[in-house]
Amino acid sequence: MSSGETSSLFISLWRGILSIVFPSHCVVCACALDPAHRVCLCDRCWSKMPQIRQPFCPKCGVPIESTALIPFDIPCGECRLTRRPYGVCRSAGVYDGPLKQCIHSFKYEGRRELAEVLGRFMAECADRELAEAEYDALVPVPLHRDRLRERGFNQALLLARELAKRRGSPVAPDVLARDRGTLSQSTLSRRERLKNVRGAFAVGERGAVRGMRFLVIDDVYTTGATADECARILMKAGARAVDILTLARSI
Ligand SMILES: [Zn+2]
Ligand SMILES: [Zn+2]
Repeated sequence: MSSGETSSLFISLWRGILSIVFPSHCVVCACALDPAHRVCLCDRCWSKMPQIRQPFCPKCGVPIESTALIPFDIPCGECRLTRRPYGVCRSAGVYDGPLKQCIHSFKYEGRRELAEVLGRFMAECADRELAEAEYDALVPVPLHRDRLRERGFNQALLLARELAKRRGSPVAPDVLARDRGTLSQSTLSRRERLKNVRGAFAVGERGAVRGMRFLVIDDVYTTGATADECARILMKAGARAVDILTLARSI
């Protein structure tokens, strides 16, 4: 094990111990928080959350280089080649730095209370980028039941609930269902990614879809295959429009 790996192991162990013994410590930098501080992230780390701001692709939201010759209202290369089944996709921040650490603690260390601060981060993005849109419901991307059993909660559902509190739209967790698990997307090619998620989702038996306008919520946009597939299934079932909002995006 390298000294870097040893020190990051030590830091995460130390954070874990601190969070159990003294729950009022920042989940990222482990600084002590005032017990009255309601969230477990300090103001300094909050201010360093890597937001995604213009210029980005108007369709899929990927940050793009903009110059005087390339205006930022032109879709990215991938969106020009691929027909996206959704209206727009936006992500609140880059999957890096304090945001990545928070998501890691939230998902893998069971720190559910982080949903509040992460939901706020997402809501600020929705206020900036999707302010005009009115949605009939927020639809969390469902987790496969094995993963749900292992983790104990669906992170996308907790985020959707936080967003719902701030936006006033209802959460509709039954609109999408997960038919089967998928392989990790990170090492697959685009074609393999699409094949991997094809048929992984279905419209839930109790979900009303026809004529509805949905905002699909997920934690991390990695390859876009999940966003594309969820939107495709909903549009095929008669949804009027589907947009996507994720907390973070791998760049
Ligand atoms: Zn901090
Ligand atoms: Zn794009």
